[in-house]
Amino acid sequence: MYCGHGRGKLTAEPEYLNPEMMQTELQRRAYLRAMGIDVWIPRDQADAEPDIEALQDPVGELDWDELRSAVSGCTRCRLHETRTQTVFGVGSLVADWMIVGEAPGAEEDRRGEPFVGRAGKLLDEMLRAIGESRASVFIANVLKCRPPNNRDPKPDESTACRSHLERQIELVQPKVIVAVGRVAAHLLLDTDEPVGRMRGKVHQLGDTPLLVTYHPAYLLRSPSQKRKSWDDLCLARRVMSGASV
Ligand code: SF4
Repeated sequence: MYCGHGRGKLTAEPEYLNPEMMQTELQRRAYLRAMGIDVWIPRDQADAEPDIEALQDPVGELDWDELRSAVSGCTRCRLHETRTQTVFGVGSLVADWMIVGEAPGAEEDRRGEPFVGRAGKLLDEMLRAIGESRASVFIANVLKCRPPNNRDPKPDESTACRSHLERQIELVQPKVIVAVGRVAAHLLLDTDEPVGRMRGKVHQLGDTPLLVTYHPAYLLRSPSQKRKSWDDLCLARRVMSGASV
């Protein structure tokens, strides 16, 4: 183990870090270096040493136009290589409700809008049933680019894209977030619990209440679950209006 700014040996470094741990480790090193403290790094990671400016994610400071532009030109993960276009999100920029799915599918990738096609129509109907519409809520995905063949997002992709959604939530300031489907719920709540066990409860994403329900595409395949989804939306409406639940 060798130092990037001197010579010597230090305590053991983890041999393998997942993308999130790696980001944290890189930030730790950059901050220590910025404070004038020698940072010891493995020889094989020396080339990956970033500077501190590169690690300070500017997305958290962007306004809507800047964020939209940053997303449309984003190359943070490999999904930019296969997308037709980014899918930023649609709806009111000051909505009480925010609906969050996982990632664009083929039709969304083609049209640049989340939740289109049959599943999108069902979502529209669900929104109408609670007195809302595509224009009155804000609808987005955790990832803004389509994973090839609609596979689940990889951890490094969701980590790379997460700040885009976080900034959208900060700007919209919704009263309630509804995560639709297993992947969105898992990515937002950092869990692997089945949707059936997460729904019916009020979770928190930072200061914002978050509820989980089934993805409309799943409801098209399993219409008998629509009743549960309706119950979830009614619970979300009660949370949104501040009623005790
Ligand atoms: S998925 Fe997100 S992080 Fe990856 S290229 Fe698209 S916008 Fe950037």
